[in-house]
Amino acid sequence: MLTERQLFQQHMALPSEVKNPIEAIKAKGIYLYDVNGKEYIDLVSGVSVSNLGHCHPKIVEAVEKQVNTYMHLMVYGKYLQSPQVQLASLLAKHLPQSLNATYFVNSGSEAIDGALKLAKRTTGRSEIIAFKNAYHGGTHGALSILGNEKMKYAFRPLLPNIRFLNYNQSEELHQITTQTACVVVETIQAEAGIILPQDQFLDKLRKRCNETGTLLIFDEIQVGFGRTGKLFAFENYNVTPDILCLAKAMGGGMPIGAFIASKELMNNLTHKPVLGHITTFGGHPVSCAAALANLKVLTETDILDHVEAKGQQFVDGIQHHPAIKSIRHKGLMIGVDVQDHLKKASLSKVFQENGLIIDQFLFRAASFRIAPPLVITEQEIEKTISLIHKSLNEL
Ligand code: PLP
Repeated sequence: MLTERQLFQQHMALPSEVKNPIEAIKAKGIYLYDVNGKEYIDLVSGVSVSNLGHCHPKIVEAVEKQVNTYMHLMVYGKYLQSPQVQLASLLAKHLPQSLNATYFVNSGSEAIDGALKLAKRTTGRSEIIAFKNAYHGGTHGALSILGNEKMKYAFRPLLPNIRFLNYNQSEELHQITTQTACVVVETIQAEAGIILPQDQFLDKLRKRCNETGTLLIFDEIQVGFGRTGKLFAFENYNVTPDILCLAKAMGGGMPIGAFIASKELMNNLTHKPVLGHITTFGGHPVSCAAALANLKVLTETDILDHVEAKGQQFVDGIQHHPAIKSIRHKGLMIGVDVQDHLKKASLSKVFQENGLIIDQFLFRAASFRIAPPLVITEQEIEKTISLIHKSLNEL
């Protein structure tokens, strides 16, 4: 009989070759366990998904309750379903008035696609501006605005009329004109290696969009829901987008995404044409129940108050290691550049042997991310820091 490892290689379509994947059997809090009982500290959180840790009791409880009430009833928007309504209302409570209507979807990519459609429909324009080294997802729309040719050349033709600017280069913002439907930007560039906005960049972007009647779309799919120490990353910079895209940590481990705008703007997807965006599973009641519990925990406890200090604790604990070249961080979103001479190919392997799960970035070589669940404790960070030192010494 074939092992699950063999079946994995034979029957699962995979986005890349993974020779020796961790065979996970359980996850709880910041820990993951493999089939041999080995414990790992999760420093990736499924790429900023498990912000409250794995299997948070409040989320498990909400899911169990909803599964026993109803699961899928009808395509999105036809029935009033309490978990969706409660979640949309609570999101509105924690967002500026201009972001008071939520369209629920299934993933980050779909949130981006929905936002692009909303911007085109609203402005009647087709030009889209995005940024180099940005990652927005894998569907055709999201791929079209991905700022890295290597990942998309094989799939052309993609959406036309897209222009790429350099992130943080304010002098390029004049390229946004009255022809531009929208600008899509990650509030903090994640896959580029945690690149923070500098020199009032987002502010200047907001101003230019106002001048040209262009809609500003923030992709907070990776940075939202507390990762930066604020519920939403844009709160760090006092700049409000016209459309906000969310996913990943939103569902506390369940699949859900959203694009959020004003009710007035969103009405453009309700009329002319009617059914401007439709989805069968978007806003799945079980995912919404999980997301509601997730949002309540994030906003009713003091977890977010400690995120920046925890991030700083990591930085202070590792920045002087000779293998480290530089570190960028906001909250518990940390990008670590290692020295060029290190054996980068073995980075993840060595960390894994020492019980740490790390991951590299799509668009930054010789670098890795630290993005643990936000519930990691100071003691657990100390333990993690010594394991990081051990791993770096062995590289
Ligand atoms: N935008 C950003 C910044 C992301 O990091 C990702 C996923 O990694 C996406 C969009 C796409 O989200 P999804 O994988 O849920 O489609």
